[in-house]
Amino acid sequence: MTTKISGIGMTSQRTRDRLIVRLQQQGIKNLDVLEVMKNLPRHLFVDEALASRAYEDTALPIGHAQTISQPFTVARMTEILLEGLPKKKVLEVGTGSGYQTAVLSRLVDRVFSVERISPLQNQARERFYQLQLNNIKLKHSDGSWGWSEHELYDGIIVTCAPEEIPQELLHQLTEGGRLVIPVGGSTGQSLHVLDRHGNTFEETILDPVSFVPLLSGAI
Ligand code: SAH
Repeated sequence: MTTKISGIGMTSQRTRDRLIVRLQQQGIKNLDVLEVMKNLPRHLFVDEALASRAYEDTALPIGHAQTISQPFTVARMTEILLEGLPKKKVLEVGTGSGYQTAVLSRLVDRVFSVERISPLQNQARERFYQLQLNNIKLKHSDGSWGWSEHELYDGIIVTCAPEEIPQELLHQLTEGGRLVIPVGGSTGQSLHVLDRHGNTFEETILDPVSFVPLLSGAI
């Protein structure tokens, strides 16, 4: 078990350290984010057959036509989400492998994460148990509706792309809270950041990105 978590060869700490250097070279500045990603075993979030590729800066398949996000994208979105006011309570839409969820769980007090594909959610839950990440709550549902039972959130991160921003997510943000979300369809997506000031939302459009689509309904 210890070997599996700490990793050997292509999943060793040295391999992880090289990824962190690359992320820094690409402009990731938040040292807390870098430290968490340095210590978190990404190879446990992919199929064993892909473990040797877990520290390449690339998205990888996780089954059910979904992918674990590229490390640079995880780092960038986390860094943007954490900017500004402290983020104690965060909602994630699209648990997937659980890697982004796990990164967040080590940086904020509580993480709520919604996933529409049940087997992916179950695998993620096992990983959180194995890594003793105890501040994560999961829900099997269509995350376009957020998770109203636990609102309001200081931050919301969406790891799948809708064509338009689901308005319900905006209503579940606290004053000063921030939504980070990829938006767009097959002709291209970009990363949007929305900051809540009362009932107005200041929108900033950042980098082009490439995410799986946000789909409706839970399966
Ligand atoms: N953060 C994840 C990304 C996985 S891909 C990771 O790095 O592993 C995006 C995930 O969003 C997929 O698991 C997909 O099933 C999920 N998803 C798509 N539409 C959704 C919706 N409406 N509600 C909840 N999850 C959704």
